[in-house]
Amino acid sequence: MIEQNQFRGHEQLAYFHDKDSGLKAFIAVHDTTLGPAAGGCRMWPYANEMDALNDALRLARGMSYKNAMAGLPLGGGKAVIIANSKTDKTEALFKAFGRCVDSLDGKYITAEDVGMTTKDMKLIATQTKHVAGLSHGDHASGDPSPFTARGIYNGIRAAVKYKLGREDLAGLTVAVQGVGHVGMYLCEYLHADGVKLIVSDIVQEHLDEAVERFDAKIVPPHEILAVKADVVSPCALGAILNDETIPHFNTSIIAGGANNQLANDSHGVRLLDRGILYAPDYVINAGGIINVSGEATGNYDLGWVNRKVDDIYHTLLHIFERADTEERPTNVVADEMAEEIIAKARKKKLSAA
Ligand code: NAD
Repeated sequence: MIEQNQFRGHEQLAYFHDKDSGLKAFIAVHDTTLGPAAGGCRMWPYANEMDALNDALRLARGMSYKNAMAGLPLGGGKAVIIANSKTDKTEALFKAFGRCVDSLDGKYITAEDVGMTTKDMKLIATQTKHVAGLSHGDHASGDPSPFTARGIYNGIRAAVKYKLGREDLAGLTVAVQGVGHVGMYLCEYLHADGVKLIVSDIVQEHLDEAVERFDAKIVPPHEILAVKADVVSPCALGAILNDETIPHFNTSIIAGGANNQLANDSHGVRLLDRGILYAPDYVINAGGIINVSGEATGNYDLGWVNRKVDDIYHTLLHIFERADTEERPTNVVADEMAEEIIAKARKKKLSAA
């Protein structure tokens, strides 16, 4: 297992099997230098346990980087439950998972991810206090999407300033792929700034809402990434920056909220070669985890959350400048900056010990 490709610098990996409920889950703790490892729990019908394990390891490391770059007092971790979210959810399963989280004594804080809802988190919370992303309670942070969108809006402003030398967005065209929770809130921000919107989605009601509220122009899903726009903002699916799509982009900025936009790290080089400025996904979409962190640290403060979300603007400018100076892709520079933040904190901790 230690030879596994994805097992890089992880502190802990736990496998849980609860015979009574049928729960099978991995919890990966990547790094707790900055604080308890925080990251959502994903429910997915993985083909086998090795796929689930690799996903948990990869996602946990991503959370360490995301939390470090957002300046949060949190490390990185992730849980995966091997099950189908449409057919396998039971109260017993979530309670068993809650006991698993609790057994790690706060080293890992769980929250929602793909396949999980606030209702599921409520059941998990009956067994452990190490849960965030609840909709009710003393420090509940609620829906993270508006905060994620606010961060992306800040990120788009930073990219436009850096690439186009403009302080404001008025009159620019932004193409948004996916007008769901995040995409719709993002359109609200952009529309208020006088941006012309082009959108695509696979749900007609979402499109109707975008047309009615923002006078958005609609294009079919297969066209959205290639439309002529000042900014393309992927807010739907992962792996959309790949060998097929990259040659067809007709923009100089890609800045959106979807997770894992690069099919693999090398596609960052392809974007650099094409002169397209890419805002690393886990930096620009950190608004949601910043909001959740207000809850995870037990002292939710909206002012603090908003200030942190607005810092995304400066963090991205910093990444863009360093990437330019070093002539390297922004995704590589962001990873390196995150590793530096963690290494510096580790050194400080060790010297204080
Ligand atoms: P969502 O499900 O509410 O919205 C996704 C939208 O994309 C939906 O309207 C869906 O119909 C549409 N869509 C799906 N396939 C499409 C396609 N082929 N072409 C165009 N549209 C398509 O999800 P969300 O919460 O808005 O999250 C969007 C993305 O942002 C995801 O990748 C998610 O992982 C990421 N993200 C979300 C948050 C958050 O706070 N919700 C935080 C960080 C990252």
